[in-house]
Amino acid sequence: MKLCDFVRPRSIEEARRYLHDLGPGGIPIAGGTALHFLLDEKPVTAVDITRMGLDGITEIPGGYRIGATTPLADIQAYRAERWAFHEVCRRLATHQVRNISTLGGNICRVFPWADLPVALIALNATMVIRGDHEIKMSCDEYFQSQPARLFKNGDLLVAVEVPALGPHMGFGYKKEVKTSKGFSLMTGAAVLTLKDGVVQNARVAAGGAAPFPCRLPRVEEALKGNKAESEGFKSAVASGIDNINWKGREGLTDDYAQHLAGVVLCDVLERALTFAKERS
Ligand SMILES: Cc1cc2nc3c(=O)[nH]c(=O)nc-3n(C[C@H](O)[C@H](O)[C@H](O)COP(=O)(O)OP(=O)(O)OC[C@H]3O[C@@H](n4cnc5c(N)ncnc54)[C@H](O)[C@@H]3O)c2cc1C
Repeated sequence: MKLCDFVRPRSIEEARRYLHDLGPGGIPIAGGTALHFLLDEKPVTAVDITRMGLDGITEIPGGYRIGATTPLADIQAYRAERWAFHEVCRRLATHQVRNISTLGGNICRVFPWADLPVALIALNATMVIRGDHEIKMSCDEYFQSQPARLFKNGDLLVAVEVPALGPHMGFGYKKEVKTSKGFSLMTGAAVLTLKDGVVQNARVAAGGAAPFPCRLPRVEEALKGNKAESEGFKSAVASGIDNINWKGREGLTDDYAQHLAGVVLCDVLERALTFAKERS
């Protein structure tokens, strides 16, 4: 991406006008940290969307609303009852990157190593998109394919709504890397809803080693109605992940990536169980 000009609108309407008028010659930028991953040499005007009041985290009925331009370091620092999303941001890249990278930048153009989509799918987040009107989209629909498809006409992601975890719910997250600040080789996340030690509902998601961040419905189905314990987790994961084309990166074979996915997902389910027990 070759930046030739830079504008800094003060409102969503002004930003959308710029992006609409610039067409393919304009690009919204937030932290700007992904620009060097976009190999296109096309000259563009950057429309900086970080001065439009789209940052911050607020409590809303049933959960939290995170503004699209909230820096990841702010999400990492935020604390609230039964809030777990900070644990995901803590493990992403370096503190310098987290200071300027934003929530929206991580999930509007999804790279293979992106961590936040995996966690947001497990947490069943809702995306708030501003076009001519504001619309809300489930994360399942949003992450069906590359979300950049939704932002072609100057539309912008303005916020993400993350439901609060209920008293019998637990969140688990794990990212496997070669070095502590490395890109994800496999990211897993899960939310379990338990009753009397039995899994009532499960949302399980994977990325990094998966072709694109995705839910694992076969694992979820195998968990439901069964006791929340290690052997059940192992058999649900073993039976539910062989339909994915796991992809090894940074020298890993695809077979090893599948093995890694199984190990990470079992860990993630154990963590979700511990979370539910300790924080209920
Ligand atoms: C060295 C390094 C290591 C990293 N490691 C990881 C890692 O392990 N895991 C991980 O998840 N991430 C990692 N990242 C971060 C990730 O790769 C992206 O760089 C980052 O998430 C982009 O955020 P940003 O705010 O800088 O987005 P930008 O670079 O500003 O934008 C990214 C894309 O999103 C679009 N966009 C941004 N905001 C909006 C919006 N509100 N509406 C519509 N479109 C929008 C832009 O047009 C652009 O196409 C790493 C980054 C670096 C530099």
